Amino acid sequence: MNIVILSRSRKLYSTRRLLEAAHTRGHESSVIDTLRCYMNMATAKPSIRYRGEPLPPVDAVIPRIGASITFYGTAVVRQFEMMGVYAVNESVAIARSRDKLRSMQLLARRDIGMPVTGFAHTTDDIPGLIDMVGGAPLVVKLLEGTQGVGVVLCETRKAAESVMEAFFGIDVNIMVQEYIEEAGGADVRCFVIGDKVVAAMRRQAAPGEFRSNLHRGGSAHAAKISPAERRTAVAAAKTMGLNIAGVDLIRSNHGPLVLEVNSSPGLEGIEEASGIDVADRVIEFIERNARQGRTRTRGTG
Ligand code: ADP
Ligand code: MG
Repeated sequence: MNIVILSRSRKLYSTRRLLEAAHTRGHESSVIDTLRCYMNMATAKPSIRYRGEPLPPVDAVIPRIGASITFYGTAVVRQFEMMGVYAVNESVAIARSRDKLRSMQLLARRDIGMPVTGFAHTTDDIPGLIDMVGGAPLVVKLLEGTQGVGVVLCETRKAAESVMEAFFGIDVNIMVQEYIEEAGGADVRCFVIGDKVVAAMRRQAAPGEFRSNLHRGGSAHAAKISPAERRTAVAAAKTMGLNIAGVDLIRSNHGPLVLEVNSSPGLEGIEEASGIDVADRVIEFIERNARQGRTRTRGTG
C-alpha cells in the first residue's frame, strides 16, 4: 500500500514511528506537511498538489493534525476523502473531537461517564454554576487550553468565584467541573485502535500538582485497566467516530470518567510506558480496513 502520514514534521516521534512501522510492514510511506498541501475545490475531480506536484495514488492517509491547525488540516483530510482515499481518522470525527463542548454533549447522550460539568461564557449566576457541579472544590478549564494550561483547581467557593470572574472578563468559554479528588492526581490514557484498547498508561502528577500532564511534570507508568475502563474508552472513541484515539479516563469512586478524547494521540509516552509497538498496530489496522472509498461519515452529530 501507499500510506501517507499527514504531519507538520517527520522529526516528531509519532510521525517517525508510523513511517518506520509502515516500511517494516512492507508499505510505501511518506510524510506530507499538511500546511503545504494545496487543493482544487471547483472540479468534479478533486486533487491535492504538494510542492508543485500532483500526489501519486494514495491508499490510506494517517492524519496527525495538531490542535493549532485543525481548520486547514481537516480540510486537507476531507479532500483526501473526496478523492476516495481511506482516512484512518475521518475529517468530521477529528473536527468533532476538537470541540470539547460538542464532544461532552455527545458522550453524555451515550451515557458515557464523565465528571459533572457545566459550560458557560458569561453568566451573572456564578453561585448557580458552582452549585450545579456540587460546590467547591472544583476545576475550571479554559476550553481552548491544552497540556494542562488553563486548568485551575479552585479549593474554595471564594477562589472559584474569582477565577470565573477573571475568565468571564476576558471573553473566553469555560468549563466548570467537579473535582475528582480520589483520583489522587492520576489519570489513565487508553490508546484505542478500532474496537480495542491496545495500550494503556497511568499518568501521575508531580507532588503538589493535580494535573497529570507529562508537560506539567507528570510521570508515565504501565497500567492495567479494568473491563469497565476498556468498555468506556472504546465507547468514547466510537461515539466520536474515531478509529484511532487517545481516551483519557479519571478513576472515580463511581467508576471511570472520560476527561478527553484525542484524535492524534502521541506514541512516545505510551510506547515507552507499555512496551507495546503501537505504531505497528496502527498500520496493521489500516491493512485490515483500508479500501478505496471506504471512508464515510460515521458517529453522531
Ligand atoms: P488538557 O486538555 O489541558 O490536558 P485536561 O482536562 O486533560 O486538560 O486536564 C489536565 C489534567 O488535570 C488531567 O490530566 C487530570 O490529571 C487533571 N484533571 C482535569 N480535570 C480534573 C477533574 N475534574 N478532577 C480531577 N483532576 C482533573
Ligand atoms: Mg489532558
